Amino acid sequence: MPKRLGVLTSGGDAQGMNAAIRATVRAALDQGADVYGIYEGYQGMIDGGNYIRRVNWAASGGILHKGGTILGTARSPEFRTREGRRKAVANLLRHGIDRLVVIGGDGSLTGASLLRQEWKGLCQELVEMGEIAQTLADAHPYLTIAGLVGSIDNDMYGTDMTIGADSALHRITDAIDAITSTAASHQRAFVVEVMGRNCGYLALMGALASGADWVLIPESPPNLDDWETKMCAILGEGRKSGRRDSIVVVAEGAQDRNGNPITAEMVKQTLEKHLDEEARVTVLGHVQRGGSPSAYDRVLSTLVGAAAATTALAAGEDDESMLVGIHHNKITFLPLMECVHKTHELNDAVRNLDFAKAMELRGKNFQDSFRILRTLIRSMPHPPTPGQKRIRFAILNASGPAPGMNAAVRAAVRLAVDRGHIPVGVYRGFRGLINNNLEEFQWMSVNGWAPIGGSELGTSRKVPSGGDFYAIAKSLEENKIDAILMVGGWAGYHSMLRLYQERTTFPAFNIPLICIPATINNNLPGTELCIGADTALNSIVEVVDKIKQSAVASNRCFIVEVMGRYCGYLALMSAIATGAERVYLHEEGVTLRELEQDIAMLKEGFEHGKRLGLMIRNENANPLYTTPFLAALFEEEGGSLFDVRISVLGHLQQGGDPTPYDRILATRLAAKSIDFIEKYYQKGEADESAAAIGLLAGDFHFTPLYEIPRLMDEKSQRPKEQWWMELRPIAKLLAQPGPGFHSDQT
Ligand code: ADP
Repeated sequence: MPKRLGVLTSGGDAQGMNAAIRATVRAALDQGADVYGIYEGYQGMIDGGNYIRRVNWAASGGILHKGGTILGTARSPEFRTREGRRKAVANLLRHGIDRLVVIGGDGSLTGASLLRQEWKGLCQELVEMGEIAQTLADAHPYLTIAGLVGSIDNDMYGTDMTIGADSALHRITDAIDAITSTAASHQRAFVVEVMGRNCGYLALMGALASGADWVLIPESPPNLDDWETKMCAILGEGRKSGRRDSIVVVAEGAQDRNGNPITAEMVKQTLEKHLDEEARVTVLGHVQRGGSPSAYDRVLSTLVGAAAATTALAAGEDDESMLVGIHHNKITFLPLMECVHKTHELNDAVRNLDFAKAMELRGKNFQDSFRILRTLIRSMPHPPTPGQKRIRFAILNASGPAPGMNAAVRAAVRLAVDRGHIPVGVYRGFRGLINNNLEEFQWMSVNGWAPIGGSELGTSRKVPSGGDFYAIAKSLEENKIDAILMVGGWAGYHSMLRLYQERTTFPAFNIPLICIPATINNNLPGTELCIGADTALNSIVEVVDKIKQSAVASNRCFIVEVMGRYCGYLALMSAIATGAERVYLHEEGVTLRELEQDIAMLKEGFEHGKRLGLMIRNENANPLYTTPFLAALFEEEGGSLFDVRISVLGHLQQGGDPTPYDRILATRLAAKSIDFIEKYYQKGEADESAAAIGLLAGDFHFTPLYEIPRLMDEKSQRPKEQWWMELRPIAKLLAQPGPGFHSDQT
């Protein structure tokens, strides 16, 4: 008999739960299991009947982009009782289900763990009560659990990100951006309350991403008794120095050092009293749970969902229940109970006012972000220390614009000024450096830059050559530049490499040269992710969702061409996030044989009732098999079964306001780059003083520029090793028609 797997969502809903359901169902079906949807969480498990139903490939189609959960979710007090759990076991056994994928918060996962522990005992009780036969109990000696964390709060130990947290952050950042514009028009103060009872993740990251002026989180309350006076003094000074608004972000669980709640209303009253101006409160509430999941949540949920099904189906009696999470872009499996205990420990630390422990348990990224935020929100920088070396560094953007570049420049400028240094903005990339188009920047020069897309400094693709080096050297000397900080893509990296290579000829280049990766293509060495790629991915996903909606009524296949130059990151990730059936990458090439197979797949699908086809093609996947060529081929071969349309997404992928992730990444990379400049400004001739910063395995790394030629596939302008290539099989598995079904919806 095939293995039988149940999947349920429980507790608070979160965007991305549907994507996790889809992946769990399809991966399990692919492995030959029977899959059951358990509706309305644990209550459905207790009530049985129609709440537990077989699901097939098609039933899990058309849900990837939907918020909420198609299975429904509920809070079930009855499941907290042994009797309730016994009823649940009886219903599971009626269907022969002894494997579960549970998608929920720490409460739901605690419940799941308990069910597994009690399984044998509850089965025995059911036999004794005459509810089930001994043979049935014997056939299911144990229950296997794989847990996925669905929670917008990002409050669970055992995964870097919970399902829904990134989408919630999108909602929060959008809201604060919108509030900022109205607040600035009226010169008003706003207090924004965001979710998070024990966890300040959403408040902290929302504030960091939106450039808010103050944040209150449960784990690290203000450490002064009269914090209200301090906060109002800083906000007041900020106004005097030119800010037109004040935004305070409050986590719903914010408290003072004595554990007294700090509510949004209290903050509003404080602001009105001290600043003598009207303040408004916005409680974001359930808006944060709503809406379509972000690209990241769709990809995350897809990966952990498929992994959860696989591990739940493979586990034996002695295998522990696992929490399937993500750490440094890799799927992880940790003992479920350990994760639940650690999460409780953290919540207890917050409740018991042990703030040092709470911050420690939240981890390094959280602490770093909090520290950075505390500097960025200052109304004015610390004055330079008398006698300190004030480093003058040039900061510029290069290559194509990437959303998040401005956030990086803002953070670098402010963090540097706060340490007494002098940033010098260069307009229009290396062209500006050649033409001596530079200007000293102050704290307020970058005010309000965090949410703006594009490049305020201006950028160019110019790579210096010949006489340009002399002009640049002169410009650096005239402006007394001690370091260069470049935020940009491949042309920028290439330019910085050229300066490094010219050091022997031009001593002016013997200064720290630091590159921050910013390109939507995500094709730079020494980093897993570049600033801008997340925004581009979300832009693609949004448009493809619309295209899919437009196409379902008419048998149609869409070929969507996305950017990326020769790097397939955007193509593959958007295919996973939208459920495209096929993705064409330059890395894999395109052959006629494969195209024939694709045509056969499309024809068979449309013959069996499919109404929509979706193929995503990287712009340079193949020089001859172009997008129009593919369209003509499919159109001709498809005959009357379906027609074909092309959508070349073009520059909308480079535009748009940066996503919270891109803003936060930009800010954190900029902070580390300032540390780098301080470290090397006296060792400018050292080879290590010319480097590119990046995020590798979750940590910041500096790759010396001399390593770059070795790491790059020069011809295709992409790194030789690309971590995301290993995600290709999952994209393929989930989107194609599954066993015995021809889904019309992906
Ligand atoms: P979340 O899963 O989002 O943390 P809850 O804490 O409300 O949400 O838990 C959801 C459901 O999980 C509860 O209604 C209950 O049915 C079950 N549950 C939670 N905690 C336990 C527990 N300690 N024992 C048994 N079941 C639990």
